[in-house]
Amino acid sequence: MSAPPPPKKPFTGDPNQYPPNHFAKSITGACLCGSISVTVNENIFNDYPSAYICHCANCRKVSGSYAAPNVRIEQDKVKIVDRKGTMKEYDDFETGSGNPVHRFFCGRCGSPIKSETARFKDMYILKMGIFPRIPKPQFETFAEHRHAWQGKHDGVEQFALVMGGKKLGE
Ligand SMILES: [Zn+2]
Ligand SMILES: [Zn+2]
Repeated sequence: MSAPPPPKKPFTGDPNQYPPNHFAKSITGACLCGSISVTVNENIFNDYPSAYICHCANCRKVSGSYAAPNVRIEQDKVKIVDRKGTMKEYDDFETGSGNPVHRFFCGRCGSPIKSETARFKDMYILKMGIFPRIPKPQFETFAEHRHAWQGKHDGVEQFALVMGGKKLGE
């Protein structure tokens, strides 16, 4: 078996390679193929109130994971560049909250980029997996659907289902 080829660019999977304040002004992430980049011009690492983790079934499907790290933020604080025009949209009408969600992803590599929903006008829900660092969640949604093996995030507000609804244990 021959050794795998070296990566073309450094991996950014280790958030600890950056000093703590490195992303205090802005942070840029890119989809796997590099066609779409997203820059957030805001410090989302200082206990940003709308950094959260969602355990809903649709976030799982979209992220290919047991939960999805998201940040909800005003659209005018975000710059999205779609160099090769690969952004695709899926209109999701079967959501856990019942609100239609427009889900955007890279049609070439499949990375989830953002969601939009009328419930949060003029905002994006950014899918944080494409960024070099993910902010600490301030709350969790659909926490009732967490797998037992996952462990819990102590001190993080836990909505049983939708944001702003009943909390776990209430
Ligand atoms: Zn891509
Ligand atoms: Zn969700």
